[in-house]
Amino acid sequence: MSDGESAVSEVASEPDSTVLADTESKSPVIDASGLSHAFGDVVVLDDLSLTVEPGEIVALVGPNGSGKTTLLQFLSKVRAPNAGTVTVGAGDRTRVGYLPQRPEFREGFTVADTLRFYTQFVEEDVDVGTTLDRVGLSEAADRRVEALSGGMTRLLGLARALVGDPDVVVLDEPASGLDPGMVERLFEIVAELAAEGTAVVLSSHNLGPVERTADRVVVLDGGRFVATGSPQELVESAEATDLQTAFGTLVSTEEVAGR
Ligand code: ADP
Repeated sequence: MSDGESAVSEVASEPDSTVLADTESKSPVIDASGLSHAFGDVVVLDDLSLTVEPGEIVALVGPNGSGKTTLLQFLSKVRAPNAGTVTVGAGDRTRVGYLPQRPEFREGFTVADTLRFYTQFVEEDVDVGTTLDRVGLSEAADRRVEALSGGMTRLLGLARALVGDPDVVVLDEPASGLDPGMVERLFEIVAELAAEGTAVVLSSHNLGPVERTADRVVVLDGGRFVATGSPQELVESAEATDLQTAFGTLVSTEEVAGR
Protein backbone atom coordinates (compact mmCIF):
# COMPACT_ATOMS: atom_id res chain seq x y z
CA MET A 1 0.00 0.00 0.00
CA SER A 2 1.65 3.20 -1.05
CA ASP A 3 -0.75 5.90 0.09
CA GLY A 4 -0.24 7.06 3.63
CA GLU A 5 3.50 6.91 3.12
CA SER A 6 3.43 10.34 1.52
CA ALA A 7 2.07 11.96 4.69
CA VAL A 8 4.81 10.38 6.76
CA SER A 9 7.63 11.36 4.43
CA GLU A 10 6.29 14.92 4.21
CA VAL A 11 6.99 15.39 7.92
CA ALA A 12 10.23 13.44 7.81
CA SER A 13 11.67 15.52 4.97
CA GLU A 14 11.56 18.68 7.10
CA PRO A 15 13.55 17.76 10.20
CA ASP A 16 13.26 21.21 11.78
CA SER A 17 9.52 21.24 11.55
CA THR A 18 9.03 17.69 12.75
CA VAL A 19 8.41 18.62 16.36
CA LEU A 20 6.00 21.37 15.48
CA ALA A 21 4.22 19.22 12.90
CA ASP A 22 4.03 16.42 15.43
CA THR A 23 2.55 18.67 18.07
CA GLU A 24 0.01 20.00 15.63
CA SER A 25 -1.08 16.55 14.58
CA LYS A 26 -1.49 15.38 18.15
CA SER A 27 -5.19 15.89 18.40
CA PRO A 28 -6.60 12.54 19.40
CA VAL A 29 -8.54 10.56 16.86
CA ILE A 30 -10.50 8.91 19.67
CA ASP A 31 -11.44 10.88 22.76
CA ALA A 32 -13.50 8.87 25.23
CA SER A 33 -14.45 10.39 28.53
CA GLY A 34 -16.25 9.15 31.62
CA LEU A 35 -17.56 5.93 30.11
CA SER A 36 -19.72 3.93 32.45
CA HIS A 37 -22.03 1.08 31.66
CA ALA A 38 -24.14 -1.46 33.49
CA PHE A 39 -26.10 -4.49 32.37
CA GLY A 40 -28.97 -4.49 34.82
CA ASP A 41 -27.41 -4.01 38.24
CA VAL A 42 -24.00 -5.20 37.13
CA VAL A 43 -21.57 -2.38 36.47
CA VAL A 44 -19.25 -3.55 33.67
CA LEU A 45 -17.40 -0.30 32.94
CA ASP A 46 -16.73 2.25 35.62
CA ASP A 47 -15.83 5.82 34.59
CA LEU A 48 -13.18 5.11 31.95
CA SER A 49 -11.44 7.79 29.91
CA LEU A 50 -9.06 7.15 27.04
CA THR A 51 -7.58 9.09 24.15
CA VAL A 52 -5.90 7.57 21.12
CA GLU A 53 -3.59 9.44 18.75
CA PRO A 54 -3.35 8.92 15.00
CA GLY A 55 -0.89 6.13 14.26
CA GLU A 56 -0.97 4.83 17.81
CA ILE A 57 -1.40 1.15 18.70
CA VAL A 58 -3.31 0.70 21.93
CA ALA A 59 -3.78 -2.81 23.28
CA LEU A 60 -6.52 -3.57 25.75
CA VAL A 61 -5.68 -6.57 27.88
CA GLY A 62 -7.62 -8.08 30.73
CA PRO A 63 -9.23 -11.27 31.94
CA ASN A 64 -12.40 -12.61 30.35
CA GLY A 65 -15.36 -10.56 31.46
CA SER A 66 -13.27 -7.51 32.34
CA GLY A 67 -15.19 -5.34 29.87
CA LYS A 68 -12.92 -5.27 26.80
CA THR A 69 -15.58 -6.09 24.22
CA THR A 70 -18.01 -3.63 25.74
CA LEU A 71 -15.41 -0.86 25.75
CA LEU A 72 -14.36 -1.57 22.14
CA GLN A 73 -17.99 -1.42 21.04
CA PHE A 74 -18.25 2.03 22.58
CA LEU A 75 -14.94 3.23 21.10
CA SER A 76 -16.01 2.11 17.64
CA LYS A 77 -19.44 3.64 18.20
CA VAL A 78 -21.38 0.51 17.32
CA ARG A 79 -23.11 0.94 20.70
CA ALA A 80 -23.52 3.78 23.15
CA PRO A 81 -22.67 3.65 26.85
CA ASN A 82 -25.09 4.53 29.67
CA ALA A 83 -22.85 7.48 30.52
CA GLY A 84 -19.89 9.27 29.01
CA THR A 85 -18.93 10.50 25.58
CA VAL A 86 -16.90 9.14 22.69
CA THR A 87 -15.64 11.47 19.98
CA VAL A 88 -14.00 9.88 16.98
CA GLY A 89 -12.02 12.17 14.69
CA ALA A 90 -12.44 15.85 14.15
CA GLY A 91 -15.03 15.82 11.40
CA ASP A 92 -17.63 13.68 9.70
CA ARG A 93 -15.10 12.03 7.46
CA THR A 94 -13.31 9.96 10.06
CA ARG A 95 -13.93 6.35 9.30
CA VAL A 96 -13.79 3.50 11.78
CA GLY A 97 -13.14 -0.10 10.80
CA TYR A 98 -14.43 -2.56 13.38
CA LEU A 99 -13.74 -6.26 13.76
CA PRO A 100 -16.28 -7.73 16.19
CA GLN A 101 -15.34 -10.59 18.45
CA ARG A 102 -17.49 -12.98 16.40
CA PRO A 103 -17.67 -11.71 12.84
CA GLU A 104 -20.55 -13.18 10.85
CA PHE A 105 -21.11 -13.26 7.14
CA ARG A 106 -24.07 -14.22 5.06
CA GLU A 107 -23.81 -17.82 3.97
CA GLY A 108 -23.76 -18.89 0.33
CA PHE A 109 -21.26 -16.30 -0.87
CA THR A 110 -17.56 -16.64 -1.52
CA VAL A 111 -14.89 -14.78 0.40
CA ALA A 112 -14.16 -12.50 -2.57
CA ASP A 113 -17.85 -11.79 -3.25
CA THR A 114 -18.42 -11.03 0.42
CA LEU A 115 -15.59 -8.52 0.55
CA ARG A 116 -16.70 -7.03 -2.77
CA PHE A 117 -20.15 -6.51 -1.26
CA TYR A 118 -18.69 -4.31 1.48
CA THR A 119 -16.64 -2.22 -0.97
CA GLN A 120 -19.80 -0.64 -2.33
CA PHE A 121 -20.21 1.32 0.92
CA VAL A 122 -17.05 3.35 0.37
CA GLU A 123 -16.34 5.77 -2.42
CA GLU A 124 -12.74 4.63 -2.96
CA ASP A 125 -11.88 1.88 -5.40
CA VAL A 126 -10.94 -1.15 -3.37
CA ASP A 127 -8.84 -3.91 -4.86
CA VAL A 128 -10.44 -6.98 -3.31
CA GLY A 129 -7.53 -9.21 -4.33
CA THR A 130 -4.96 -6.93 -2.71
CA THR A 131 -6.97 -6.71 0.50
CA LEU A 132 -7.40 -10.49 0.68
CA ASP A 133 -3.70 -10.91 0.01
CA ARG A 134 -2.88 -8.51 2.81
CA VAL A 135 -4.74 -10.59 5.37
CA GLY A 136 -3.51 -13.91 3.98
CA LEU A 137 -6.80 -15.06 2.44
CA SER A 138 -5.94 -15.05 -1.30
CA GLU A 139 -6.07 -18.78 -1.58
CA ALA A 140 -9.51 -18.87 0.04
CA ALA A 141 -10.96 -16.19 -2.26
CA ASP A 142 -13.33 -18.62 -3.98
CA ARG A 143 -14.31 -20.51 -0.87
CA ARG A 144 -17.76 -20.04 0.60
CA VAL A 145 -17.75 -18.18 3.89
CA GLU A 146 -19.45 -21.02 5.75
CA ALA A 147 -16.50 -23.28 4.88
CA LEU A 148 -13.98 -21.02 6.60
CA SER A 149 -12.34 -21.92 9.90
CA GLY A 150 -12.89 -19.60 12.85
CA GLY A 151 -9.49 -18.00 12.30
CA MET A 152 -10.13 -17.45 8.59
CA THR A 153 -13.53 -15.95 9.32
CA ARG A 154 -11.76 -13.53 11.61
CA LEU A 155 -9.27 -12.66 8.85
CA LEU A 156 -12.18 -11.92 6.53
CA GLY A 157 -13.56 -9.69 9.27
CA LEU A 158 -10.21 -7.94 9.38
CA ALA A 159 -10.30 -7.48 5.60
CA ARG A 160 -13.79 -5.99 5.93
CA ALA A 161 -12.56 -3.64 8.67
CA LEU A 162 -9.81 -2.38 6.35
CA VAL A 163 -12.08 -1.54 3.41
CA GLY A 164 -11.88 2.17 2.62
CA ASP A 165 -8.64 2.82 4.55
CA PRO A 166 -10.24 3.81 7.87
CA ASP A 167 -8.57 6.35 10.17
CA VAL A 168 -9.27 4.16 13.18
CA VAL A 169 -9.35 0.37 13.32
CA VAL A 170 -10.89 -1.33 16.35
CA LEU A 171 -10.15 -5.05 16.55
CA ASP A 172 -11.76 -7.28 19.16
CA GLU A 173 -9.45 -10.26 19.76
CA PRO A 174 -8.19 -10.34 16.16
CA ALA A 175 -5.57 -13.02 16.92
CA SER A 176 -8.01 -15.48 18.46
CA GLY A 177 -8.08 -18.78 16.56
CA LEU A 178 -5.11 -17.93 14.34
CA ASP A 179 -2.12 -20.21 13.95
CA PRO A 180 1.20 -18.80 15.26
CA GLY A 181 2.33 -17.69 11.80
CA MET A 182 -0.89 -15.79 11.22
CA VAL A 183 -0.71 -14.22 14.67
CA GLU A 184 2.66 -12.77 13.69
CA ARG A 185 1.28 -11.65 10.32
CA LEU A 186 -1.70 -10.04 12.05
CA PHE A 187 0.52 -7.96 14.31
CA GLU A 188 2.68 -7.02 11.30
CA ILE A 189 -0.47 -5.74 9.59
CA VAL A 190 -1.29 -3.76 12.73
CA ALA A 191 2.20 -2.23 12.72
CA GLU A 192 1.88 -1.37 9.01
CA LEU A 193 -1.47 0.32 9.59
CA ALA A 194 -0.02 2.41 12.40
CA ALA A 195 2.97 3.38 10.23
CA GLU A 196 0.46 4.66 7.67
CA GLY A 197 -1.12 6.85 10.38
CA THR A 198 -4.08 4.63 11.24
CA ALA A 199 -4.89 4.40 14.94
CA VAL A 200 -5.37 0.80 16.06
CA VAL A 201 -7.15 -0.25 19.24
CA LEU A 202 -7.26 -3.95 19.83
CA SER A 203 -7.90 -6.48 22.56
CA SER A 204 -5.73 -9.55 22.78
CA HIS A 205 -4.59 -12.35 25.03
CA ASN A 206 -1.43 -12.76 22.92
CA LEU A 207 0.80 -10.77 25.22
CA GLY A 208 4.07 -11.62 23.42
CA PRO A 209 3.12 -9.87 20.18
CA VAL A 210 1.31 -7.16 22.15
CA GLU A 211 4.53 -6.43 24.05
CA ARG A 212 6.46 -6.17 20.78
CA THR A 213 3.89 -4.15 18.84
CA ALA A 214 1.75 -1.92 21.08
CA ASP A 215 2.70 1.66 21.91
CA ARG A 216 0.45 1.59 24.92
CA VAL A 217 -1.12 -1.20 26.92
CA VAL A 218 -4.24 -0.62 28.96
CA VAL A 219 -4.97 -3.28 31.55
CA LEU A 220 -8.65 -3.66 32.29
CA ASP A 221 -9.92 -5.61 35.28
CA GLY A 222 -13.46 -5.57 36.61
CA GLY A 223 -14.42 -2.67 34.34
CA ARG A 224 -11.61 -0.38 35.54
CA PHE A 225 -8.19 0.50 34.20
CA VAL A 226 -5.70 -0.98 36.63
CA ALA A 227 -2.59 0.00 34.65
CA THR A 228 -1.69 1.99 31.58
CA GLY A 229 1.68 2.55 29.96
CA SER A 230 4.09 1.39 27.32
CA PRO A 231 4.79 -2.35 27.49
CA GLN A 232 8.20 -1.52 28.95
CA GLU A 233 6.70 0.77 31.61
CA LEU A 234 4.25 -1.91 32.69
CA VAL A 235 6.96 -4.56 32.84
CA GLU A 236 9.17 -2.27 34.91
CA SER A 237 6.40 -1.11 37.23
CA ALA A 238 5.49 -4.73 37.97
CA GLU A 239 9.18 -5.62 38.36
CA ALA A 240 8.54 -8.37 35.86
CA THR A 241 10.59 -9.87 33.03
CA ASP A 242 7.91 -9.63 30.38
CA LEU A 243 4.36 -8.45 29.82
CA GLN A 244 2.85 -11.87 30.46
CA THR A 245 4.39 -11.97 33.93
CA ALA A 246 3.52 -8.33 34.58
CA PHE A 247 -0.08 -9.02 33.59
CA GLY A 248 -0.36 -11.73 36.24
CA THR A 249 0.87 -9.33 38.89
CA LEU A 250 -1.20 -6.36 37.77
CA VAL A 251 -4.45 -8.20 37.44
CA SER A 252 -4.24 -10.38 40.53
CA THR A 253 -3.29 -7.53 42.89
CA GLU A 254 -5.40 -4.84 41.19
CA GLU A 255 -2.66 -2.38 41.97
CA VAL A 256 -2.72 0.83 39.99
CA ALA A 257 0.60 1.12 38.23
CA GLY A 258 1.79 3.58 35.64
CA ARG A 259 -0.45 6.49 34.86
P1 ADP B 1 -14.47 -9.15 27.89
O1 ADP B 1 -14.52 -8.72 26.46
O2 ADP B 1 -13.33 -8.54 28.65
O3 ADP B 1 -14.51 -10.63 28.05
P2 ADP B 1 -17.20 -8.16 28.02
O4 ADP B 1 -17.18 -6.72 27.65
O5 ADP B 1 -17.62 -9.14 26.97
O6 ADP B 1 -15.77 -8.55 28.62
O7 ADP B 1 -18.15 -8.36 29.27
C1 ADP B 1 -18.04 -7.60 30.45
C2 ADP B 1 -19.10 -8.02 31.43
O8 ADP B 1 -20.36 -7.64 30.90
C3 ADP B 1 -19.17 -9.52 31.66
O9 ADP B 1 -19.47 -9.72 33.01
C4 ADP B 1 -20.30 -9.96 30.78
O10 ADP B 1 -20.91 -11.09 31.31
C5 ADP B 1 -21.21 -8.76 30.83
N1 ADP B 1 -22.03 -8.61 29.62
C6 ADP B 1 -21.58 -8.39 28.37
N2 ADP B 1 -22.58 -8.26 27.50
C7 ADP B 1 -23.72 -8.41 28.22
C8 ADP B 1 -25.10 -8.37 27.90
N3 ADP B 1 -25.53 -8.14 26.65
N4 ADP B 1 -25.98 -8.56 28.90
C9 ADP B 1 -25.55 -8.77 30.16
N5 ADP B 1 -24.28 -8.79 30.54
C10 ADP B 1 -23.37 -8.63 29.59
